[in-house]
Amino acid sequence: MSLLVVGSVALDTVETPFGRAEDALGGSATFFSAAASLFCPVQLVGVVGDDYPMQGLQFLADRGVDLGGLEQAQGESFRWSGVYSYDLNSRETLDTRLGVFADFAPKIPEGFRDAEWVFLGNIDPELQLGVLDQVRSPKLVACDTMNLWIDIKRERVLDLLQRVDMLMINDGEARQLSGDHNLARAARWIQSRGPRYLIIKKGEHGAILFTPTGTFFAPGYPLEEVFDPTGAGDSFAGGFMGHLAQCGRLEDSDLRRAVVYGSVLGSYACERFSVERLRDLTADEVEERVRHFREMTSFELPVGEEAGV
Ligand code: AMP
Repeated sequence: MSLLVVGSVALDTVETPFGRAEDALGGSATFFSAAASLFCPVQLVGVVGDDYPMQGLQFLADRGVDLGGLEQAQGESFRWSGVYSYDLNSRETLDTRLGVFADFAPKIPEGFRDAEWVFLGNIDPELQLGVLDQVRSPKLVACDTMNLWIDIKRERVLDLLQRVDMLMINDGEARQLSGDHNLARAARWIQSRGPRYLIIKKGEHGAILFTPTGTFFAPGYPLEEVFDPTGAGDSFAGGFMGHLAQCGRLEDSDLRRAVVYGSVLGSYACERFSVERLRDLTADEVEERVRHFREMTSFELPVGEEAGV
């Protein structure tokens, strides 16, 4: 059940209407591993600078994340900063400082190359393609991308689509990539370019899974306290891939359940700044929220209660 993630390990400065965090642990690979490690062992590949507070990642190692592929290079760590508006649905990137990330060329350690489950976090599509040249025969490769790469490296993103099994992007990115404002049509267009499966994330409004045979929708978990949505998408991916790797199958029912686990992990990520909520999250708490999710979304009325509908 080996699960490999390649992505950013960052220091984030985030401002929300509820507070501010400076140089907090962040990055796609960090959020992904924090979520996925609640399900199965994870292998992480990334790079940080010599200024990175490595002790902050100890909780990942304690939860079974193999940090053997995390290179520490001379120079500054990747830093991202962003600010959220009052409804927390839109965010503005204030600054991106690549630091050692500028020269990052992922080297997959020999012991990670047989990974069965692979997640390519949001990095340059050329680098994502480079990772695919190094892994042997994964059961499922899923990848993320962002508006920046669709803008400046569209052809490479399209090359990537031909080589991955699944794409996980948000609704804006799906529209941008396909050139179609209608999400159902955008999905068919993306699937026709390669990936068998597609997940379109819609923030607090949930996520849609498109498979070759159908569509499944899961809402976002209605949280009373949303503190910081940074990393929710990567935590969704971690919960989703973690569940699949743990169950080891790819039946439609497994994929559907994985979407619910993704939604649950994404919701927990928003409850505090950075990875703070994921740090002490337990598998029991995840199961509790999945149970609540099932109650919330089931619309079969108990026998005998149909009257009046
Ligand atoms: P999410 O909120 O799930 O989209 O992910 C946010 C995380 O992505 C933050 O922790 C950032 O450090 C990281 N991030 C933002 N921009 C980039 C980028 N250009 N490349 C890699 N990681 C990024």
